[in-house]
Amino acid sequence: MVNKLDLLVITVHPDDAELCCGGTIAKHIALGKKVGIVDLTRGELGTRGSAEIRDEEAEEAARLLGISLRLNLGMRDGFFRNDEAHQLEVIRIIRQFRPEIVISNATVDRHPDHIRAGDLLNDAVFLSGLRKIETHFESVIQEPHRPRLLLQSIQDTYVKPDIVLDVTDYWDTKIAAIRAYKSQFFHEEYEADEPQTYISTPQFLEIVKSRGLEYGKYIGVQYAEGFTCRRIFGVENLFNLK
Ligand SMILES: [Zn+2]
Repeated sequence: MVNKLDLLVITVHPDDAELCCGGTIAKHIALGKKVGIVDLTRGELGTRGSAEIRDEEAEEAARLLGISLRLNLGMRDGFFRNDEAHQLEVIRIIRQFRPEIVISNATVDRHPDHIRAGDLLNDAVFLSGLRKIETHFESVIQEPHRPRLLLQSIQDTYVKPDIVLDVTDYWDTKIAAIRAYKSQFFHEEYEADEPQTYISTPQFLEIVKSRGLEYGKYIGVQYAEGFTCRRIFGVENLFNLK
């Protein structure tokens, strides 16, 4: 198993990572970075599909994106908490893979799981750097590690991004990874007698596309993904800004 990641996406439901930042993931892999996804839950409360189906879909999406690692922490969908026990689970993962950059769920959103997961990550990323919080991996004390940057995704609720990233060349990969979740999003091949949801209609994929186009328009490219951040960014050179 990989033991060091450059970028780690830690989000609550399998498919959150693909929807929020599939293009960002694919782009950084193409740049030679090691990228992983950790899903907090198996999305077992989802109206469509099942935990087992979603496991298979997540594996296929991971293959399409080319990530180095995908883990599922098996927390309880809908009922996990931002408390000490859950923070320690996330801290163990951060210290194990020592990413420079972490991407979390949105902390402003209509879905309470997204908000809680985003807050859990915010706390765990900070606490992970405190040496007096002792955690173990395979009976060995872990070194403290605080990623230098935590970015929050933008999900169902519109939020003005603090940063947008050009993912034009990776848009098709992102959409393919999203469509790997045949039980969740509109797909011609998925036939099950299950209710439609907000995300299972063809219109939802159009919304994903229009969000990408909109963020792209801000920086003069075709498609972009947007993020928020609780800290101020620095840049080496003004001419590197788009
Ligand atoms: Zn979600």
